[in-house]
Amino acid sequence: MVRTLWIPQRTRSRISFPRSKSTLALDVRQDITVTTAIQPVTNLFDLDRAGLEAFFIGLGEKKFRAQQVMKWMYHQQVIDFEQMTDLGKSLRDKLNTHAELRLPKILHEQQSSDGTCKWVLELEGGNAVETVFIPEANRGTLCVSSQIGCGLNCSFCSTGTQGFNRDLTTAEVIGQVWIAANSLGSKHRGARRITNVVMMGMGEPLLNFDNVVPAMSLMRDDYGFGLASRRVTLSTAGLVPMIDRLNAESDVALAVSLHAPDDELRTQLVPLNKKYPIAELMAACQRYAARKAKTQITFEYTLMKGINDKPEQARALVKLLRRVPSKLNLIPFNPFPGTKYERSEPMVIATFQKIVMDGGLIATVRRTRGDDIDAACGQLVGKVMDRTRRQADFRRRIEAEVHVIP
Ligand code: SF4
Repeated sequence: MVRTLWIPQRTRSRISFPRSKSTLALDVRQDITVTTAIQPVTNLFDLDRAGLEAFFIGLGEKKFRAQQVMKWMYHQQVIDFEQMTDLGKSLRDKLNTHAELRLPKILHEQQSSDGTCKWVLELEGGNAVETVFIPEANRGTLCVSSQIGCGLNCSFCSTGTQGFNRDLTTAEVIGQVWIAANSLGSKHRGARRITNVVMMGMGEPLLNFDNVVPAMSLMRDDYGFGLASRRVTLSTAGLVPMIDRLNAESDVALAVSLHAPDDELRTQLVPLNKKYPIAELMAACQRYAARKAKTQITFEYTLMKGINDKPEQARALVKLLRRVPSKLNLIPFNPFPGTKYERSEPMVIATFQKIVMDGGLIATVRRTRGDDIDAACGQLVGKVMDRTRRQADFRRRIEAEVHVIP
């Protein structure tokens, strides 16, 4: 009998096919053995602690094995079962048969003159995503992607122009943290730890809830990366029902890409606003903030010249955000080839910040980092095999606009 141990992620090709049709016809039992001998192989990076415990119970082992193996995977960064020396040989044999530890491959690694690091990671299907580490005096923030491309089509976002291919698996999400930690640890041991993770790279993380939430749980698990909940932030364009689901099922910090103080402009910038307008979004943010004392929502507001950087818009923002315990992150726009938007002038940004701060909001201006390696916010690109044909549409739009300009 062959037990099914877990949902197969893929199968190992260790199947011995029947020798010949005549042999098969004569030996029915052998035929059954052949058809059921496909062994499911589970990538353990796809499982959070509860998933690993269930996996080990399925293997006929005690559930504490999950913690033991997680220590190797995440604390020691060992990805070869043979090197897990406190596991007995029979368990290592079982793991070699039924499990694997598979991570994305590093295609490219770059370091900016300001210390920002960027990794381009190759994923199955010929796609690639980018992960960025931003070191600061008192912390190190890793910006992680959740999807290949993005389907939400925000008009000011470089990722949004590339179309959408697929969701990342849990292994591909947590793999970004693993690779960055491994790379930074080996090159700068102890000096440049990852203290914060923001799900703010490519993609809308709430549209990949079932893979992102277990990955964020591994980031916070003591046997995983052990980050405090408030140091793991999920950033959303405003999927209201999923914000409520996150509120019920996870305990991470929430950031919302706002970018406009009124529905008309926000729908132009973030088309999702048409479905979940600002009033509904703010109500969901209030519910999220009410989950426990001192919870603050971070609102991101990308400042674009002449679009959303006027003093009256700053005042409207104050009115809007007063109702939610929050802080405002003002982000100077990062232009990318073909975009019609421009970065606001430094004086305009300073005036905008002053108005919102005078109105009682906490507001910071994000310093642009990693410019020389295109690692700044909104520039994460990777390689997206577009299934939505948005890249082609975007190119056509650019060409049309180029023809119109004299
Ligand atoms: S801003 Fe975020 S949600 Fe909008 S298109 Fe870009 S990646 Fe997607």
